[in-house]
Amino acid sequence: MAADLPPDPRGSIVVLTVPGLDELVTRLGAMGYMVKGPTHGESAIVPGPVRSSADLPRGVHDVQSPGSYRIVENDDDEELFGWAVGPESWKKEYFPSSQVMWRGEVVGDTVVFREPDHSRSPVAIFGARPCEVAAMNIMDRVLDEGVHRDSRYSDRRNSSFITVVECARPADTCFCVSMRSGPGIEKGFDVALTELNDQHGHRFIARSGSPRGAEVLSSVLSRPATEHDLEARAVLLTTASEAMSRSLPYDEVADLLARNVEHPRWSDVAERCLSCGNCTLACPTCFCSDVHDTTDATGAIERRRTWSSCFDLEHSYLHGGSVHESASSRYRQWMTHKLSTWWDQFDSTGCVGCGRCIVWCPVGIDITEEVTAIAAQDQVRVGVPS
Ligand code: SF4
Ligand code: SF4
Repeated sequence: MAADLPPDPRGSIVVLTVPGLDELVTRLGAMGYMVKGPTHGESAIVPGPVRSSADLPRGVHDVQSPGSYRIVENDDDEELFGWAVGPESWKKEYFPSSQVMWRGEVVGDTVVFREPDHSRSPVAIFGARPCEVAAMNIMDRVLDEGVHRDSRYSDRRNSSFITVVECARPADTCFCVSMRSGPGIEKGFDVALTELNDQHGHRFIARSGSPRGAEVLSSVLSRPATEHDLEARAVLLTTASEAMSRSLPYDEVADLLARNVEHPRWSDVAERCLSCGNCTLACPTCFCSDVHDTTDATGAIERRRTWSSCFDLEHSYLHGGSVHESASSRYRQWMTHKLSTWWDQFDSTGCVGCGRCIVWCPVGIDITEEVTAIAAQDQVRVGVPS
């Protein structure tokens, strides 16, 4: 039994059973991390505190489609990660939906400004998906590696420990294979797990992706991975990849959208779009924000940053009015930024194929379907000037 074997000192590819997984969580807690992971909320899988594997969504599966999300439970099933992604990404862990930037108060004849203390225990995320790690890397380019570095984001991000779990059961709305962000992962994590449940038992292949990941893994009960384990992982990833029916043309989509800014499909989608902004809130890479200043009768001042959306009329407000007045221009702004102009700005795509914008759109607008419709009547190919 794996639990009888001594800790693997090498930090290489090892196999843990559930007790080993519990040890991993305990070890992270002992290192001072606040461990957070997927938990079974009222009707969805949502981030929450994880003290042991008992807090993970055992035997829970998700059924997702455009505009629809449903949880299915199976008490006989011991799988802990048998679902795809929930409504909330890990974005808010580093980039909270509402955050005080500074406070000020009148002291005598002057106003004194104070930056609130944003320090807190470092977070260990236990059970992010590969596409979510890809989204974190995209957000790093925007908020950590750019000219205007956000120290609040950087401090949280750089102090966190990431345990990622590869995907065995993509949702019907996932298309990470085409966005090169899943279902497997090779870098960007401290520890990567692959859950296996077959004739050789319920177990987790564990790989370290950093020195601290190797150190943590070497301190928990494990056994070396066998050929059987590695073959099972390869089969699992191939099966998960082949299960995805949606896709985007990764290499072509940026140019396709750039030459189709006047495409009739933008008006078509505007007739369905409610401009509610759900897609931007659910998206793990949308980073637009707004700032509001408030004062009270004592003279105290507060500047707060909150998430914003390019679907808000005010978002593109310049002197005299909004630049994106129509729903079609707002949807076009969102999609062309994600898939096209993000490359010009950050040298990467802005989409990881998690499918949340499809699932959490109340009218089921599907980004992959919209791109397919535009490609079908590519304005250059049919000879219409762009
Ligand atoms: S655009 Fe949609 S599919 Fe792409 S990362 Fe955002 S929510 Fe996920
Ligand atoms: S695409 Fe859907 S989720 Fe996004 S703003 Fe329009 S209606 Fe809302």
